[in-house]
Amino acid sequence: MQKTVVVIGAGISGLTSAYLLSKKGFNIRILEKKSEVGGSIESLTENGFLFDRGPNSALETTPVISQLVEELNLKGELLYANKAANKRYILRNNELHALPMSPPALVKTKLFSAKAKFRLLAEPFIGKSHDGYYQSLAEFVRRRLGQEFLDYAINPFVAGVYAGRPEDLSVKSAFPKLYALEEKYGGLIIGTIRSIRERKKRAEKSKQSAKMLSFKSGMIALPKAIANYFGDKLILSAEVVSVDKTADGYIVSYRHKEIDEAIVCDAVLSTVPSYVAGDLFSKFDTGFKTHCDSIYYPPVLVYFLAYNKKDIKQPLDGFGFLIPEKEKKSFLGALWSSVIFPFRADDNFATFTLFIGGSRNPDFVKEDRNKLLDRVRNEFEELMKINGKPVYSSHRFWEKAIPQYNIGYIEHERFFDEFEKQNPGLFISGNFRGGISVGDCIKNAELVAEKILNNL
Ligand SMILES: Cc1cc2nc3c(=O)[nH]c(=O)nc-3n(C[C@H](O)[C@H](O)[C@H](O)COP(=O)(O)OP(=O)(O)OC[C@H]3O[C@@H](n4cnc5c(N)ncnc54)[C@H](O)[C@@H]3O)c2cc1C
Repeated sequence: MQKTVVVIGAGISGLTSAYLLSKKGFNIRILEKKSEVGGSIESLTENGFLFDRGPNSALETTPVISQLVEELNLKGELLYANKAANKRYILRNNELHALPMSPPALVKTKLFSAKAKFRLLAEPFIGKSHDGYYQSLAEFVRRRLGQEFLDYAINPFVAGVYAGRPEDLSVKSAFPKLYALEEKYGGLIIGTIRSIRERKKRAEKSKQSAKMLSFKSGMIALPKAIANYFGDKLILSAEVVSVDKTADGYIVSYRHKEIDEAIVCDAVLSTVPSYVAGDLFSKFDTGFKTHCDSIYYPPVLVYFLAYNKKDIKQPLDGFGFLIPEKEKKSFLGALWSSVIFPFRADDNFATFTLFIGGSRNPDFVKEDRNKLLDRVRNEFEELMKINGKPVYSSHRFWEKAIPQYNIGYIEHERFFDEFEKQNPGLFISGNFRGGISVGDCIKNAELVAEKILNNL
């Protein structure tokens, strides 16, 4: 008989697993609390500008993405990032420096001092470290590459990916591939060279070489297309309030338009954030909520600005810039959104997406919002040499934005693995397990779908 799986949450993790399971013949029901699908993925079109309020792009690190694009007829919508987006800037001493992408560029750049460049040469001779799960990314990078590389490359990079801080993140949990270079090959430089060779043989793609993609109507196109595939099997404005065990499966209770409803099923896949999952599953194990609640999601404010191109003196020839903590600015960095993908604005305008807060500065929430936005805009306009007012602006506040894979995160991982073993039919997924990027969520959704297939 066809098995029923209830998927809680219609973000990219839930939708992708649901789609793959449906293809394998499962009866799928998806319950989503909000009135829209996508979760962290939100695209807003206003005054002729397209503003991705969550992720602006995804890396094509898994073939599942092209499978979805193909099967959901999204080929005509798909966009790959402009070549210019390969150039990324980092701020130092109030100037934007292109991140060096080759050894000659590294020699020439003013982003790093001569001392920092010489320090990189020592990297191949530095020995391996202790267990990376309990080692911070900062400790790891400082030891292998030196303090300046940590301050002016890794610190801004981590703010761009996790809205996080290298001092807090566990190197092995948050950057498993980076740690593996040391563990497997003994060093980062030698490891990078050898792993490129090995990947070439296996025809795999690394995050560095994977193509960056989005869609004409923004990132929301993908969740929307999966939602269309499910039709009324996906219920919006349906907040799951409890999950209970029955004699031969589970019953998922939810509130839909002020009416209490329930679905009986063989398995439950939760993809809600950990701070929601904690309450839903604590009855199955008293430790569940403690683990879930200790995963930190810092707040992030996303600020979208559009200007007349003629008012901008900074050449728009890159992905955008990131700001090291040492530079003491009020925001983390800015994406040059309309340079990366077309269809973001009319030709005369340029659009930018700025990120504020994260673990670097969670206290921004206490500041007067308008004053903060004014200060950020002034700083941004000075750096970009803009002498005109924005023609459009808007912002999106994420109170709990991105889960941080901080030191000690492995304890949560181990707990969730054991929890699933002890509770057959309950599956816990979402971006707080297996990676936070859209690409990782999709990759992980495939693994979860396989796990469910093998268990039922
Ligand atoms: C501001 C921002 C920028 C980002 N930028 C990038 C980027 O550029 N590139 C990139 O790769 N990644 C980026 N990310 C990360 C990436 O977008 C997310 O990690 C990913 O989209 C998370 O997907 P998910 O399905 O795991 O979780 P979510 O998107 O959080 O989905 C969970 C869903 O569960 C629903 N839900 C919650 N409670 C209940 C309940 N009780 N009942 C039913 N449903 C419920 C929620 O409404 C939500 O729809 C960014 C994230 C943010 C916030």
